[in-house]
Parts: sequence; structure tokens; C-alpha cells
Amino acid sequence: LLYSRKSQRKQTVVDVNGNLIGDGNCHFIMGPCSVESVEQVNQTASEMKKRGLQLLRGGAFKPRTSPYDFQGLGMEGLRSLSKTARDHQMAVVTEIMSPSQLEEAYDLLDVIQIGARNMQNFELLKAVGRTGKPVLLKRGLAATIKEFMLAAEYILREGNNHVILCERGIRTFGTETRNTLDISSVPILKQETHLPVIVDVAHSTGRKDLFIPAAKAAVAIGADGVMAEVHPNPVSALSDAGQQMNHQEFHDFMDAMEHFLTPK
Ligand code: PEP
Ligand code: MN
Repeated sequence: LLYSRKSQRKQTVVDVNGNLIGDGNCHFIMGPCSVESVEQVNQTASEMKKRGLQLLRGGAFKPRTSPYDFQGLGMEGLRSLSKTARDHQMAVVTEIMSPSQLEEAYDLLDVIQIGARNMQNFELLKAVGRTGKPVLLKRGLAATIKEFMLAAEYILREGNNHVILCERGIRTFGTETRNTLDISSVPILKQETHLPVIVDVAHSTGRKDLFIPAAKAAVAIGADGVMAEVHPNPVSALSDAGQQMNHQEFHDFMDAMEHFLTPK
């Protein structure tokens, strides 16, 4: 299998506009759950820039559980995100839900995110596999590690080896967290595959008070990066209001992580 360490011993390093994911450093992918306005993404991007972060996430096409919830601003949102990223010299990480969206969004994004709900959307996996863009593949809502790796295989098999795996928690009987962060999946994926692995502390825990310990655990166990959600005014957010850090919380998070990452 193409994802296997047996087929490729060398660690895959995914180059996102000069950010080398898989190079042994911890990379932070941050930004709002959804793009809501130009001002909103601009404000958060500016705060991220102060910390030297260059990977800006934001959902324009949103996979919402209820069809009556905010569905995202679509192409208009992506254009805002893309302009903001360009102005700040950042890279755009955004979710694509169908091959047709991919076509129109292609030039406006740097990393194609495949959401948990689409981990086994095989036509979408094949379509992103036929591109040369980095793909951030999130683990399915209740996917086994094997199913997760085989989903990556669909992308690799089409010729795109710029794949980043993202552990984002799975559904269990637990209720204290939004999902159960399967932290042991990180070293398993690192052993079984040559692909970089990041941890989404936002959608896994769903709890801001757990972001710092979860991110530290992710780094300590070998993750190549951490994803979290940041919003200028989370209480007014149109999606995931409860799990987005405000800018002060974001700076506190980065302080804690920088202290943790810098050898004392
Ligand atoms: C997201 O990252 O915007 C998202 C919807 O996450 P997930 O697909 O992991 O639920
Ligand atoms: Mn979200």
C-alpha cells in the first residue's frame, strides 16, 4: 500500500507555501470555524501573523448537521479568505465537499481540507488525488485507523502524495467531550504511514479549557501540527461558537505552546 512505511521509509514532508509539514516541527493551523466576513477573517489573520503563523483555516462550504444551520458563505467566503491570506502572506486551508466545488475553488486555496463527514466520499478523494495541491484529510466520525489510512490511499493512488492526516476525535460513549480524542492514533499513524499527522484539538475535545493540554499531548506523542479554531468574538459565531478561542485566549494558547516547545 502506498501509505505504508513499508513502501516508503522516508517521511513525507508536505510543503504548504514554504511551511514544511512533517519536518519535525509543530505547525499551527488556526482560524475561524466559518468565514463570516472580510473583517472577521482579517482580524484573526492579523493576530495569527503576530505569532508568525502562516496557515489560515476557515470554512466557506460548511458540512452542517442540520440543513437549517448556517451553511457557509460559499465562493464569496472563500474569496474573502483568499484575499486576506494573500494580504497577510498566509496560506488558505479550507474544506471542499464536492468535486464541482473543487473546480471553482481551486485557484483560491492552498490546502484542500476533506472533512470528517467526507472521509469516505470516494469520488471526492479521487478528485483531490488528481490535483497537485496538499490535502488535509480528517478522520471520519467513527472511522477505524485502517479505514482512515485506506481513505488516504485513494488520494495517493491517483498520484497526489501531498497528504496530511488529521486526528479530530471519534464518536464513543463519552459525553464530557464533543468527540473522544484518540491520541494513540498519532503514533500508530506515524508508525504505519509516512504521512504527517496533525491533531485538531477543537473538534475533538469541543472544549477550550482542554485545548492547551490536548495540544501538548499531541506534540509530546509525535504530532506534526495542531489545528484549533479562533474567532474575534466567539459568542457571536455562526458555527461552533462554544469551541472557538477569542484573540486573548489564542495568545494565551500560543504562549503556553511556545513555552512548551522551547527547550528550557
Ligand atoms: C472543520 O474543521 O471545519 C470541520 C468541520 O471539522 P470536522 O470535519 O473534523 O468535523
Ligand atoms: Mn468548526
